[in-house]
Amino acid sequence: MSDDPETVRQIRQLARDTRPLLVLDVDEVVLEFVRPFTAFADSKGFAFRTESFRLTGNVIERENGGIASEEAVSALLDNFFAAQEDWQYAADGAAEAIDALAQGAEIVMLTAMPHAYHAHRRRLLDRLSIPFPLVTTERAKGPAVSLLAGKREAPVAFVDDIPHNHVSVAGAYPRAALFHLMAHEGMRALLTPLPDGVSAMENWFEARTAIAEALGIEA
Ligand SMILES: [Mg+2]
Repeated sequence: MSDDPETVRQIRQLARDTRPLLVLDVDEVVLEFVRPFTAFADSKGFAFRTESFRLTGNVIERENGGIASEEAVSALLDNFFAAQEDWQYAADGAAEAIDALAQGAEIVMLTAMPHAYHAHRRRLLDRLSIPFPLVTTERAKGPAVSLLAGKREAPVAFVDDIPHNHVSVAGAYPRAALFHLMAHEGMRALLTPLPDGVSAMENWFEARTAIAEALGIEA
């Protein structure tokens, strides 16, 4: 059980499904995040350096060259999520691949983003013709994936760019097939090694085939 009550509420509202399940992260998987966030930060007087795999510490105040405080980065991120409809766009090949996979699987997008911005993200995804259910969470993803899977016997796959989300899902729902996908190549190169059992994908074209195989469906 997820320890985020709002996430539990959203999952309980979804229609039940017994088909194979594909749970997708949104930022850097379905939507680009690093490139649009860098552009947004720039428009607010900040430079986002993609020199290591973290947010805080990599945001620089352009006026004085200082490292932006944790509070400033947190506010910038909040403002970005509020403005996401003007900045974010689909990752290359994502919409087509998800559409194809949806022919044989239940698709749920599970995004680690404040619940407050659910409607903004919903509108953006709808505009990009990615109409699948969206669940927001402010806590660990593993318990949410387990709740989404329920008692289903069909295969389950999970796609995310953040290694600790894979660790969380592997712990809470060990039968999930784990796939790493990250749109931003520069940032991908800075990742720590992926946890055991996570398959690294170059792009959606490769992922589409591998995920279909794991789910036992056509794509
Ligand atoms: Mg992500």
